[in-house]
Amino acid sequence: MTTEHSGDVRLSGISKTYGSFTAVHPLDLTVPQGSFFALLGASGCGKTTTLRMIAGLEEPSGGTVHLGEQEVTHLPPYKRPVNTVFQSYALFPHLDIFENVAFGLRRRGIKSVKKQVEEMLELVQLGEQARKKPHQLSGGQQQRVAVARALINTPKVLLLDEPLGALDLKLRRQMQLELKRIQTEVGITFIHVTHDQEEAMTMADTVAVMNAGRVEQLGSPTDLYENPDTTFVANFLGTSNLIEAEVDTKNGDDIVLKAGGGKLVLPEARCSAPTTTGGKVLVGVRPEKISLTHADEAGEIAEGRNRITGRIADSSFIGVSTQYVIDSPVCPEFEVYAQNIDRDARLVPGAEVVLHWNPAHTFGLDAAQD
Ligand code: ATP
Repeated sequence: MTTEHSGDVRLSGISKTYGSFTAVHPLDLTVPQGSFFALLGASGCGKTTTLRMIAGLEEPSGGTVHLGEQEVTHLPPYKRPVNTVFQSYALFPHLDIFENVAFGLRRRGIKSVKKQVEEMLELVQLGEQARKKPHQLSGGQQQRVAVARALINTPKVLLLDEPLGALDLKLRRQMQLELKRIQTEVGITFIHVTHDQEEAMTMADTVAVMNAGRVEQLGSPTDLYENPDTTFVANFLGTSNLIEAEVDTKNGDDIVLKAGGGKLVLPEARCSAPTTTGGKVLVGVRPEKISLTHADEAGEIAEGRNRITGRIADSSFIGVSTQYVIDSPVCPEFEVYAQNIDRDARLVPGAEVVLHWNPAHTFGLDAAQD
């Protein structure tokens, strides 16, 4: 449970409609002060609209926005203690880097800006570039100037709208770590919009996964990955194997399910579906949690593991691991990423195999939800 802080960002019933189209359904969300928070979702899910309502760039159709104690729902952007960094950087091309960063201070009539600007340039590691023009910097460096320019006015909240979208993959990865470092150093709340699940997982303390104008699930990256509540979240964050099963009985903290001809065990705490006998559950397991054993050696698999049988349809060696696709009566195109240790030469397409895993790595979803 989170305690409320005076600097939390609080959205209460916030919504946005365009004519008869609802871009954001009434949404309640608290972003804890000082956290790195990501709004994650596919194109069109409403994440940018949500961010823009926090910034004051979009008028909500309903609900309220609080920044700490202050209600800011109808305040113009410049009166809110927030600043936004956009994908396009929006730097002034004719001003050098120093003056781009100094801009916000000068506009407020502050005369002696040197110390503050230099500190900010140090923070984003651009001290050496102060007298260059934006076009003389790389995309990643320009984006860091945009961050410095937004932070110099000491906002309580920094909003980042796909800030790394224009960068190539390698630079993107570097900038993810860089932004995380900057956030930790300055300690203010960052709200980051992205469609890239890996980016959200790398950077954020808390991620809100959005789908069709609603928050589908909120949690830490580990929570969302290991314990998704819906098939949408399970499939949006990484790969999931989903097996159709039926609740048979309970055994202590576990549920025992029937799948195909066999049984699977699932910790009840990891199941978001109703667990009454006969209920339909989608049993999920991540590819890297699964071990693969040739059917001839199935007798050597430890007791108590979940297991299903299948046949290797395809395998590809990808360096650190081998990726297998398995055809199984309970789950077509089951994906398995097996670590490439003690590789069994018989694990080739056509081989009969047993897939097995620790029941603790199993999650359960409501088969009737979609
Ligand atoms: P993207 O990553 O593509 O920007 P998003 O998740 O940020 O997507 P939003 O930009 O928030 O999505 O848009 C949500 C929905 O609202 C989309 O279907 C979009 O077409 C619609 N929308 C956004 N702005 C307007 C507008 N001014 N008028 C009508 N519809 C709009």
